[in-house]
Amino acid sequence: MLIGTMNHPGRDLLGEIAWMADAGFDFIDLTLEPPCASVRNLDLKAVRTALEDHQLPVVGHTAYYLPLCHPFESVRRAVIEEFKICLEAFAALGAKWMNIHPDSQAPFHNKTFIIEKNLETIRALLPLSRELGVGLMIENLPGTYNTVRQISDLMDAVPELALHLDIGHANLLVNVNTTDELLNAYGKRLQHVHLHDNKGGSTDLHLPLGAGTVDTVHCIRSLQAIGYDGTITLEVFSPDRAHLAYSKEVLRRIWDQEHALKTKETETRDRRAERAVQQAHVATGH
Ligand SMILES: [Zn+2]
Repeated sequence: MLIGTMNHPGRDLLGEIAWMADAGFDFIDLTLEPPCASVRNLDLKAVRTALEDHQLPVVGHTAYYLPLCHPFESVRRAVIEEFKICLEAFAALGAKWMNIHPDSQAPFHNKTFIIEKNLETIRALLPLSRELGVGLMIENLPGTYNTVRQISDLMDAVPELALHLDIGHANLLVNVNTTDELLNAYGKRLQHVHLHDNKGGSTDLHLPLGAGTVDTVHCIRSLQAIGYDGTITLEVFSPDRAHLAYSKEVLRRIWDQEHALKTKETETRDRRAERAVQQAHVATGH
């Protein structure tokens, strides 16, 4: 399992890359968005060199506010172009996946319109995504795309879409954290995880691990139960980086503890099964 974090779009990207590498992160969750990390203003060659120098692989992230279902068709078409530019940039930086936040803002339009336009936008990106070898993944969002029923409108319509599970979001505007239901339905398509804490309700606090009500141990157990061993981004948005460093320690410790526990359980089960076979052989005289 690799632990990463996200650049602040309001800060110089090269500086962000340097401190992340110094802090011991395994990869960068690179969000390409203005003002300081807009793909149009970045020197991609310099970014690539910095990533190589610091040996930081990239997971692609895009602005959460790009309006995929904008009712003004010319605006929606511009959104497709923005995503395409991001796909090209991520391919140049060696990323294998790019996330998309589904949209629900289309005043006076019904749900069918919203889903169809999201799908149209996503489908328009598929040929380039395939050509570049940068897959698309959908991040679950509180309120509108946070349950299996909600997200299935997109996931079932486009089977090649991967799941980008945000465990903090799964804790918002729901009675029970939806991590387990999302993993049960789409665990096989899971490609990336965001982890941060909050206190339920509607506020996406992005707290350090343990500061809210997210059951981190349970969620890590659920990830390991489906065999996930990929990238986890700590989206802890605190001005004090010590909160992020602490969360990194917590995540690594819980991950290793749960992994050791799971290995021990499997060994015990195997040994018991072996003993049962031996006893059966003795009983039958073979
Ligand atoms: Zn997220």
